[in-house]
Amino acid sequence: MTTSSDHPIRARGIRKSFGSLEVLKGVDVDLTKGEVLCILGPSGSGKSTLLRCMNHLERPDAGLVLVNGTPMGYRQIGSRFHELGERELQKQRAAIGMVFQRFNLFPHLTARENIMEAPRRVLGLSRNDAQERADRLLVQVGLADKADAFPGALSGGQQQRVAIARALAMEPSVLLFDEPTSALDPELVGEVLEVMRSLADSSAMSMIVVTHEIGFARGVANRVMFMDGGVVVEQGRPRDVLENPSQERTRTFLRRTLV
Ligand code: ADP
Ligand code: MG
Repeated sequence: MTTSSDHPIRARGIRKSFGSLEVLKGVDVDLTKGEVLCILGPSGSGKSTLLRCMNHLERPDAGLVLVNGTPMGYRQIGSRFHELGERELQKQRAAIGMVFQRFNLFPHLTARENIMEAPRRVLGLSRNDAQERADRLLVQVGLADKADAFPGALSGGQQQRVAIARALAMEPSVLLFDEPTSALDPELVGEVLEVMRSLADSSAMSMIVVTHEIGFARGVANRVMFMDGGVVVEQGRPRDVLENPSQERTRTFLRRTLV
């Protein structure tokens, strides 16, 4: 029997439909502590929906997500599951940091204030503590000199690094990235991937990264998962899945992505 802290995320049999479209057809994901899992797959294969199910931004139609061993979005009383209210859900979501393709920073707040906002509001940190934390994280993502800058004055890469710092400010046990570099100009991709790489290496952060950056997957991931049509087609060590995939669908996808 493993303890909850061994697995920041365990998802079992996740199913999700939108109307008659079945987007997730029973997906299992286990993430062990400190592991970096990269998820690849064509557009529409259900990757974003899977991440959104993990933090209960979408309610799965079937299956269960355990975050540090606790059911996500529900309280278990005896054998019954009761859905949590928005407030309780928000507290639970603090364990899961999420970084999206679009940075979603508050435009009227500085970089530092963006990072301070959730720790103040959700965790109840004092202004001083939140500011100290924000400044430490700005150093970590290489933006110490941008603390007082508003998002509009930052490049896309810098904004995405602030978004990563903002996610880290909640001291999550896992970070979920949904195509964090897809909206960036090519010359800004590297600085964001570098911050993510250092999180994996120096901080041993547990991470699930949906990405088309095959080089990042090859160099940083402990495991690569290929999804298509709402199922996990195959997964394994990066060099096995990327260099020598066992499934034709994976081969076809990689051939298209690499050209
Ligand atoms: P991916 O991230 O792999 O591109 P998504 O999870 O975003 O895939 O989407 C999978 C499918 O589900 C797509 O066909 C998409 O149009 C559909 N979909 C996603 N979210 C919704 C929604 N809220 N309502 C209806 N359809 C959705
Ligand atoms: Mg997506």
